[in-house]
Amino acid sequence: MDRDILIIGGGPAGLSTALHVARDFPNLSTRILILEKARYPRPKLCAGGLVLDAEVILQGLGLDVSEVPHVDVEDIHFDFRAKGLNIRIPNSHALRVIRRDEFDNWLAEKVRVRGIEIREGITVKNIIPDQDGVIVETDQAMFRAKIVVGADGSNGVTRRCIFPNAPVHTARVLEILTPSQPRPSSLGGVPEGRWGRAYFDFFPVPNNIAGYVWDFPTQVKGAAMRCWGIYDTNMLADKKRPQLKDPLAKEMSRIGFKLEDYEIKGHPIRWFSPPNQISIPRVLMVGDAAGADPLFGEGISIALGYGVVAAREIGNSFQRNEFSFRGYKSRVIRSALGQTLIARWFIAHVIYALKWKWFQIFLWRIMKPIVAFAGWLLVLNWGKRLKSPHPNPLP
Ligand SMILES: Cc1cc2nc3c(=O)[nH]c(=O)nc-3n(C[C@H](O)[C@H](O)[C@H](O)COP(=O)(O)OP(=O)(O)OC[C@H]3O[C@@H](n4cnc5c(N)ncnc54)[C@H](O)[C@@H]3O)c2cc1C
Repeated sequence: MDRDILIIGGGPAGLSTALHVARDFPNLSTRILILEKARYPRPKLCAGGLVLDAEVILQGLGLDVSEVPHVDVEDIHFDFRAKGLNIRIPNSHALRVIRRDEFDNWLAEKVRVRGIEIREGITVKNIIPDQDGVIVETDQAMFRAKIVVGADGSNGVTRRCIFPNAPVHTARVLEILTPSQPRPSSLGGVPEGRWGRAYFDFFPVPNNIAGYVWDFPTQVKGAAMRCWGIYDTNMLADKKRPQLKDPLAKEMSRIGFKLEDYEIKGHPIRWFSPPNQISIPRVLMVGDAAGADPLFGEGISIALGYGVVAAREIGNSFQRNEFSFRGYKSRVIRSALGQTLIARWFIAHVIYALKWKWFQIFLWRIMKPIVAFAGWLLVLNWGKRLKSPHPNPLP
């Protein structure tokens, strides 16, 4: 079966790539096929924190994410041992928390409405590029494509097939969903005013966990819930570390929740590292397959952003009938997306390497205004700068 553009994976990266190709190069939209191994609405382990950059990119596609059930977060706390920096955005929420089964299902529907085909329940097993195209073997049929977009996430098959020996940088992440209040029998309780706030606490860093514990408000089928988790970049993996569960249990117990009362789930996040390759002739990667944010493991806005850059690369390559994707990585790096990824990669290496308690206190408590300013300048606010050229449609 032949299709010009085959996208492997229907998460935010694959769907954003398809939507941006359809917007910027409309004549290519019927030439896209998305293969997704699951069926929507499919579960995806994720806290669902959407930063404003994600909303900006979706607005560029004419999409309004408030159609998806969500909780608006007014303040974000970056703490060290429950004290630190509070971020608010004037006249706006600071973060919007969605559930990924609902968000991805909504985005897939927007893709279908634009006439792009998604085939669900098909698992890609192997990718074999040659001179004239790419053979894609699946559990059901064999496909031949002119180009392939690997949007198959952190555990994807694309990277394994095209870069089998490349170094992998992955974070370990655990997540727990609880009701918004602890069980009545528990000691302690949620302090007033905690609802509507998102907490990141970096207290595990001095214990060689290069990351943070989070607590977000969320909803599941309309019921108020909390999403807890712990993120560890693995940058201090050569040092002795406690089990990830221990600091998470400690943070939860602070407001009366017992970790062992709830189901705990884990999933890796592959993070961006500048030396990593992200394309070969006829195959390019987007989203977690290419690399998410190393600093916070934030990957939804990043995945949507890869879609903007990849669509431009794909459209231009069809216009030139040249599919080497030779300049894809440097165009990603020069884009606003690449700039934020490089900044986050650099900052992560500094703040997690300087793991001592006094430095973390200095950073999150004493340097507050400087940290907030640097975050605003280097980490956030990149979505608006990720412009798409709206080129002429292909003949
Ligand atoms: C616990 C946890 C919490 C997180 N919290 C946040 C957060 O709050 N905010 C945030 O921005 N990011 C968060 N992230 C990161 C975020 O989930 C990812 O960065 C994001 O999902 C990346 O999108 P993607 O489209 O690249 O990959 P995915 O969302 O993983 O999508 C990949 C798709 O490919 C499909 N697929 C995989 N293999 C195949 C195959 N062989 N054949 C066909 N289809 C295939 C999968 O079924 C899936 O639908 C979190 C991640 C974890 C693990």
